[in-house]
Amino acid sequence: MPKNFEKVINGLKIDPIIFTFKFDCECTGECCHYGVYTDSFEAERILNNKDKILANFDSTQCTDASKWFEKPEEDKEFESGIAIGTEVINGKCTFLDNKGLCTLQKMANDESEYKWKYKPLYCILFPLIIDEGVLTIDTGHIKRLKTCNPIFDTKKTIFESCTEELLHLLGKRGYSQLKKYSEEYLVNKKNN
Ligand code: SF4
Ligand code: SF4
Repeated sequence: MPKNFEKVINGLKIDPIIFTFKFDCECTGECCHYGVYTDSFEAERILNNKDKILANFDSTQCTDASKWFEKPEEDKEFESGIAIGTEVINGKCTFLDNKGLCTLQKMANDESEYKWKYKPLYCILFPLIIDEGVLTIDTGHIKRLKTCNPIFDTKKTIFESCTEELLHLLGKRGYSQLKKYSEEYLVNKKNN
């Protein structure tokens, strides 16, 4: 991953590929079939809500909370320095239900809370990712998905498809800076 991206917003380098890469997903929940890496504090927050989560599980989901996560690993990409993967059980993330919905998001919605209150950051961001301090696209994961991003003739870019995700990550001020940068970048690209 090249690291010489010129624009930095909220301490993140911006890979301008997000302004041109086409993405428009009709959600099937397929991106959740492989699990996700959480920060250790996110896994802890999930486990602190174990009883509520269990009350929302269906018969395809594992009721033994000790099997929900993989072993912790050191990983400097994560704020705490420790990453913990969610387990894949019955061919899907342990928190994905049989309708393709994330139990953590469903729970927040049912409680009329902010929809991403319980969700790990990397779940929220996908198809975006933070890689070595660069906000970019998780092209590796997109490539292995069959039903995610199937609208091949879409004119929408990831930047346009992921407004909510970018607002969550950068806040209103950071998002405005990103929007301004996207406009400048696209004008420069057209003129060169
Ligand atoms: S990327 Fe995943 S969560 Fe997002 S719309 Fe596609 S399948 Fe659904
Ligand atoms: S925690 Fe939820 S959003 Fe994240 S991978 Fe699992 S089911 Fe998908």
